[in-house]
Amino acid sequence: MSNYPRTLLEFQHLFPDEVACAHHLERIRWPEGFECPSCSQVGEPWRLQVRPRVLECRQCGYQVSLTAGTVMHRTRQPLPIWFWAAYLVTTQTPGMSALQFQRQLGIKRYETAFLMLHKLRAAMVRPERDRIGAEWPVEIDETYVGGATQGEGRGRHHKTLVVGMVEVLPRKKALGPDPNLPSGQRPQHRGGHGRSFIAGRLRLQTIPNRKQETLEPMVLANVQKKAEVRTDGWTGYDNLHNLGYNHTAVPVRGDQAKTAQHLPMIHIVFGNLDAWLLGTHHGVSPAHLQGYLNEFVFRFNRRFWPMVGFDSVLKIAAQVESPTNRDFYKNAQTSSNPVEPDEPVLTG
Ligand SMILES: [Zn+2]
Repeated sequence: MSNYPRTLLEFQHLFPDEVACAHHLERIRWPEGFECPSCSQVGEPWRLQVRPRVLECRQCGYQVSLTAGTVMHRTRQPLPIWFWAAYLVTTQTPGMSALQFQRQLGIKRYETAFLMLHKLRAAMVRPERDRIGAEWPVEIDETYVGGATQGEGRGRHHKTLVVGMVEVLPRKKALGPDPNLPSGQRPQHRGGHGRSFIAGRLRLQTIPNRKQETLEPMVLANVQKKAEVRTDGWTGYDNLHNLGYNHTAVPVRGDQAKTAQHLPMIHIVFGNLDAWLLGTHHGVSPAHLQGYLNEFVFRFNRRFWPMVGFDSVLKIAAQVESPTNRDFYKNAQTSSNPVEPDEPVLTG
């Protein structure tokens, strides 16, 4: 854990070129040393100076691409550009727009920058999920995200419905030891708007409607049974008690004071999400919204330990096959059950 870069200079020092990045990928894939995928020989491979992304087995001559099966597969971009992307996206509090990324790293085409960021977002999800709420109460609510209504009359044109679920912790329990700090010091930044509670883990998911048959599977997939869950008085949540949850519903009916009292944290999250989508990305299309939600959740759940996020993206990038460009655009509209990787965050 001690070799996480904590500053831009440290980062540049650790990953100055193609060879350094390739070496890092190699260490992530074979922490105990290279093992040939073909003949299982363990030991130092040949490293090809002109092709740093390739290792060759000394026994059988099998060649392994370090980027195969990662989001960087077959990319023409230099590895340091990918590493910078992963670093900036996971460590900068507001993330980064494709335009900022393109300009700062001198990428020729906007489409390239856009696609790279989306591929990293794909590395921020894993297929199986753990459920929240085992230890702490969970606030659940829905919100409409994105879209513009100007010139189209009243209503929620082009807006997408999102359900959010967030753990609420007493502040003094909130922060475990910082895995980035060698001595286990606690982070300086505490967040939480000066309140006596603080957000734990978060889940965000686009949904087609607010019906009970839509909301219930979302809760079941994301929140532990027997958890204490808090919602407003919406009928879609009427059956949560029968599903095994300790459910408290308070009819807030748009009353700000009641909402602030009963569901404060999820509304802070929704506000931050809105500000981020508008401020950093100037709005996003419904087709890509889930990808942005994944990124928001990923960073939110690692906000006290941003360097762990960087490592996660690379680790997962080495394990999860990236979608092809065509698949990406197809899947962007149908992605479901996304969840961020399993990392030790906010443990009491
Ligand atoms: Zn071999």
